[in-house]
Amino acid sequence: MDEMQLIIDLHKDGYRQGPGSDAATAMAIDMAGLDSSTPLKVADIGCGTGASTLVLARKLNAEIVAIDFIGDFLDILEQRSIEQKVGHAISCQACSMEDLPFPENDLDLIWSEGAIYNIGFERGITEWRRYLKTGGILVASEITWLTADRPKELEDHWNKEYPEIDLASAKIAILEKQGYTPLGYFVLPENCWSDEYYQPMKARFAPFLKQHGNSTQARAMVEAELQEMEMYEQNKAHISYGVYIAQKC
Ligand code: SAH
Repeated sequence: MDEMQLIIDLHKDGYRQGPGSDAATAMAIDMAGLDSSTPLKVADIGCGTGASTLVLARKLNAEIVAIDFIGDFLDILEQRSIEQKVGHAISCQACSMEDLPFPENDLDLIWSEGAIYNIGFERGITEWRRYLKTGGILVASEITWLTADRPKELEDHWNKEYPEIDLASAKIAILEKQGYTPLGYFVLPENCWSDEYYQPMKARFAPFLKQHGNSTQARAMVEAELQEMEMYEQNKAHISYGVYIAQKC
């Protein structure tokens, strides 16, 4: 069984595939100064099964292109968008965030929750900037240190997993350097990890293991998730996702 299929099977029935909440998405919309008064052209990059996409569709007057490279996630988003009667506002495109299907100066808003780390924050905000109109808005959540001093073991772990992890001040400096005006920043609260992401995932472990005949690979994946949860629990004073809201200048 290939690894990607296991990832899909573990995550496709999740409401979301990373930490976040509808309330946090709504807060970022407010902080960006967005509302339904103006028609907006939007990309939701690394949308997964569409937790944020559906909030954007409900709250804004938006034409949203939902991008993910996993077609199974997009199929679920499409189904949900029809159930929630916002299907007309969302079109799904299976493609890579490294090669987006937009002309330059096309979008009013780029949204990306829990996904930009896949190409790296600086690369993502730099490459995606060209698709935004001048004055367009970028909202991206990114794993972020909350404290200047961290336990060494935690630091070592993350420097291996994602060396770009940094303080919010450093992320904001990168946004400024790459031609954005920072408009806002907030930290995802603990419930965005526990109630919204880890607890629902835990509830899927038993059916997932059953589906895969309790295979060594499936058990290893569950074990890795449990370790990640434990690491978060022990270190949540030091680490979360930051939500960065910035405007192309
Ligand atoms: N935004 C969603 C999903 C976050 S998980 C949420 O908050 O729930 C990260 C998502 O990025 C996954 O759905 C994964 O399939 C997608 N992804 C990872 N690398 C990608 C790439 N190179 N191009 C497009 N999508 C990618």
